[in-house]
Amino acid sequence: MECAVATYRIWTVGCQMNKADSLKLAAGLDRLGLREAAEDQPADLEVLNTCSVRQHAEDRAYGRLNTLRRERESGRDFALVVMGCMVGARTTDLERRFPWVDVWAQPQHFDPIIERATAIKGERDVAEGESWAGWDRARSMLEWESSTFAVPNGPTAFVPVVHGCDKFCTYCIVPLRRGRERSRTVADVLAEVRHLAEHGVREVTLLGQTVEAYGHDLGTGDDLATLFEGIERIDGIVRTRFLTSYPKDMTDRIIDAVADLPKVCEHFNIPVQSGDDSMLARMRRGYTLAEYEERVGRIRERMPHAALATDVIVGCPGETDAEFQSTVRLLERTQFDVIHVAAYSPRPGTFAHRNMPDDVPREVKAERLQVIEGIHAESSARINRRLLGQTAEVLVERENSEGRSTGRTRTGQLVHFDATGLVGQMAQVDIHEVTSWSLSGSLAGSRLLALL
Ligand code: SF4
Repeated sequence: MECAVATYRIWTVGCQMNKADSLKLAAGLDRLGLREAAEDQPADLEVLNTCSVRQHAEDRAYGRLNTLRRERESGRDFALVVMGCMVGARTTDLERRFPWVDVWAQPQHFDPIIERATAIKGERDVAEGESWAGWDRARSMLEWESSTFAVPNGPTAFVPVVHGCDKFCTYCIVPLRRGRERSRTVADVLAEVRHLAEHGVREVTLLGQTVEAYGHDLGTGDDLATLFEGIERIDGIVRTRFLTSYPKDMTDRIIDAVADLPKVCEHFNIPVQSGDDSMLARMRRGYTLAEYEERVGRIRERMPHAALATDVIVGCPGETDAEFQSTVRLLERTQFDVIHVAAYSPRPGTFAHRNMPDDVPREVKAERLQVIEGIHAESSARINRRLLGQTAEVLVERENSEGRSTGRTRTGQLVHFDATGLVGQMAQVDIHEVTSWSLSGSLAGSRLLALL
């Protein structure tokens, strides 16, 4: 027998911002009265939350779209929505290529999805003989976004605080798809964090494409440090993280707040992208290598044990061997905890795609990728080895059926240890083994930390 309740499924690829958007949409759909479809069951509403940052992510969405087209052709009845970074302001081309998609929704433009979901819910209720008249359609459409917060699915949660990006790096599709920087109000963000704390969340990660841009558009003088200060006063939250940093927006006030406020983790994700000034200029990153290193120096001066992660793109248009070697030297002298490296992938619509030939051969990109991955493996193993024989403070995020728990240190290292029943709590773990990617150990006697 067909399920009486209208159901949805959200398929998500890409960054934490996309995952946060999917959770928010799920909360809105739940609020409308739909339910998430079980994994092995068809859904009435299929949503694909897509990413365009690399070709590989788009290819995965195309594969999924083709699977759903075949299901539609074989008679399955459902509405298909595509949201996220694949969807720009103009959808004419997409509509021509994928005529079986019912709704196209730009990132964070939830209204057309909620509208379609409302219609599905209404049709289903009428078919079930229930009255639809009691539904205040306008209320569900217009008010849900500002008053619906994502339902957390563990002790950690992502909280988008600033949407979009104003930087227009030449290779990047994000400003074209996510629009200009738009900050949520301080009151809205803190209300969401309080809601999360009431639902068992212990750690929040504040998100923005350039998170230190938070507040620039508000005209109130509020900035990321204002949010940090507000969260310090929220009971239940024990850690605050933030991503992704942009060196030019990282003020001394923000660095000082990270150093001084007990809940804010001394863990920076601060992409450099290249260690060469002429490459940085062609990328239009808006800073020089000296300016980047000055910010890193300031962080390390205030917090000698801060963890630093960075992003690097290899094989951007015209990247010479000498330019690449400048990047290698930067990574070797800075000793990052984590290096996220990707090969340049031209994105249609960007300045680089229109004006700069993708002229670094594929095999050179692959070699450069390997070199950076090697530096990352060595430097993160060296940094992790410092914790060997030490006791680490870990916020326990999950446990598995074999009695093993997993959590993270303040500086973001993944720790595995044998114990159960501690999810959401702070534990102290004696570290016995380290690799480049994680640490493992055992619970340190009875030294379970009380929650702050
Ligand atoms: S700062 Fe540059 S790379 Fe980062 S999202 Fe903005 S445009 Fe893209």
